[in-house]
Amino acid sequence: MRPPSLFPLFAEISTLKGVGPKLAPLVERAAGPLVRDLAFLSPSGLIQRHAATVRSAVDGELTILDLVVDQHLPPQRRGQPWRIRAHDDTGFVNLVWFKGFGEHLERAHPPGSQRVASGKLERFGVECQIAHPDHLLPPERRDQIRTLEPVYPGVTGLPPRVLSRLALDAVGRAPPLEEWQDPDWLARQGWPGWRGALDALHHPQTPEDVSLTTPARQRLAFDELLAHHLAMTQRKARRRAEPTPPVAASDLARAVEAALPFRLTGAQRRTLAEIRSDLASGERMSRLVQGDVGSGKTVVAMLAVAELAAAGYQTALMAPTEILARQHLESMAEPLERAGIQTVLLTGRDKGAQRQEKLAAVADGSAGLVVGTHALFQDEVRFHRLALAVIDEQHRFGVAERRRLMAKGEAVHLIALSATPIPRTLELTLFGDLDVSRIDEKPPGRQPVVTTATPLTRVDSVIQRLADATRDGAQAFWICPLVAESEILDVQAAEVRAADLTERLSARVGLIHGKMPPAEKDRVMADFARGEIAVLVATTVVEVGVNVPNASIMVIEHAERFGLAQLHQLRGRVGRGAARSACLLLYAPPLSLNAKARIEILRQTEDGFEIAERDLSLRGGGDLMGLKQSGLPNYRFADPVAHADLVRAASDDARLVLARDPDLVSERGQRLRVLCELFDWRADDAFAEAS
Ligand code: ADP
Ligand code: MG
Repeated sequence: MRPPSLFPLFAEISTLKGVGPKLAPLVERAAGPLVRDLAFLSPSGLIQRHAATVRSAVDGELTILDLVVDQHLPPQRRGQPWRIRAHDDTGFVNLVWFKGFGEHLERAHPPGSQRVASGKLERFGVECQIAHPDHLLPPERRDQIRTLEPVYPGVTGLPPRVLSRLALDAVGRAPPLEEWQDPDWLARQGWPGWRGALDALHHPQTPEDVSLTTPARQRLAFDELLAHHLAMTQRKARRRAEPTPPVAASDLARAVEAALPFRLTGAQRRTLAEIRSDLASGERMSRLVQGDVGSGKTVVAMLAVAELAAAGYQTALMAPTEILARQHLESMAEPLERAGIQTVLLTGRDKGAQRQEKLAAVADGSAGLVVGTHALFQDEVRFHRLALAVIDEQHRFGVAERRRLMAKGEAVHLIALSATPIPRTLELTLFGDLDVSRIDEKPPGRQPVVTTATPLTRVDSVIQRLADATRDGAQAFWICPLVAESEILDVQAAEVRAADLTERLSARVGLIHGKMPPAEKDRVMADFARGEIAVLVATTVVEVGVNVPNASIMVIEHAERFGLAQLHQLRGRVGRGAARSACLLLYAPPLSLNAKARIEILRQTEDGFEIAERDLSLRGGGDLMGLKQSGLPNYRFADPVAHADLVRAASDDARLVLARDPDLVSERGQRLRVLCELFDWRADDAFAEAS
């Protein structure tokens, strides 16, 4: 329940003076639908106006002048501006309009009248002018011209000045609220109270005042982060509190492990131990396993499957595509079945009697592992005793999809697998409600991938080398660039390249892209995996996880257009077999400094965690676009990179608070609930949202 004290802030923007049906949609686009959204809109810059005389005004500065209007000079020819000639004691100035003028100007500002004008003053020899003054007012309305005016990230059709005024109106509605932060902490940080911070936010005095590091901005960022971390921490605690029967480490799983043709790496063993301890605790597990492609996540997940099967429970493993689902089944079926654990693959393509048979095996519990795509959470799929959901490439699924799958059992444990290593700095923000394991060690014996960068002008020699290599039996991926926003154009580029390679190589060239029907994609992929296709031309939509150990060459065309993480993912598809592998980055010169840095990092390391850290420092704070797509929250004040220390503090604070007051019922707890409401991080609803 939202406390009544917040009602004024949660009113619609149309309740603000001057926001009618025309303005409302624009304001909504710029800020959001609520008064709160305007009050929380941070300025992106600051306009400073300088009161001056015609003589003292500085060329190029925003200037306020006290003037007397002399005469109007309407345009004589098309393309000429309308001019008002005016003066003060020190000289003359022209006020100039190239559009939006007319006789109304003359009526509004008759010769002889006193006016205050403001705008950017420009000097041309002895003449000076202000083009399109932002204000031209009688002296008694002078205080409408602000010498300091914050600028907000606006939208077209919405004058910054209007947005600025509305933001101030909105802040005016903000009630004083009882302090939810620890007063000692506030004092130590030198931060203002909440209401004071909002005021300061909207009344910047210097350009530095619109930065991320002012006390006011930090205070608000910390508020926002604390609200988010309270919700995440509470969600995690409640999920954990759901009782599940403890599952002890079993001989069966040990036998499956012992039968593997290799020994687990240290990182795999550590991760497996973390999973086992979760399973034995009697608390519900929610664990994210991060690790590069090929680091051996699947094997660890498989051993977790064995633990649950030994205790009589079922696991559902959901993969984003059929290709991946099939590969998972292929790698797990043999080791598990040998231990007597039945596996089933369920995809959208199963039909008729075969499908019924599979569904029956899931429903009566004889299948210990069910692997599939989205087909897994359809209504007709019923489990006997589902206790673990493994989600591969977890970011490819929405919360709702995960929840639907997990609703097929009671207090289902979750293992989410991710091949996108996240920098430590962002881990708390992205996965604060999960426990995280990192597989940061590759299985032994992997050959490093030799990475080289070549300008596209030398593409012919690259194709020549590819021809030689394929003649010797090598297989290659050729990734085509992101041409445009449109996937159709990407596909066309890939088709052209495939045709070109077909002509110039004696080996068979295949093509795969996201616009192909799934069955066809599977067929091409299978042909490639069997070695019948030597060179697979692909757009980036090709599934990250695909495993073709014989593929040893990765060519990436227009590598400069890809992000670091993406290049790393693509390269991860080679270097999985015994052969020495190569990654060729083809780029269009000249490279930007940043693109150069990205390529250099790739040449230096293959460690996804390190690449993720360096990627983040290359982007720095404020440029988190790519990461937003990976689920970074859309914070209003906080920047998880620039405010990394506040993230840690908020996470610690949330844990401390909830350890003492799990339901936020104490006096401070209740104030913190108001905080969470304010930012829509509702701790009470958080549980409904949980996976
Ligand atoms: P991921 O799921 O992280 O991409 P996989 O579990 O599919 O990685 O493992 C990739 C390949 O490495 C598989 O062929 C797997 O059998 C093999 N593998 C996994 N762990 C080890 C290990 N400890 N030693 C040797 N090979 C391993
Ligand atoms: Mg995998």
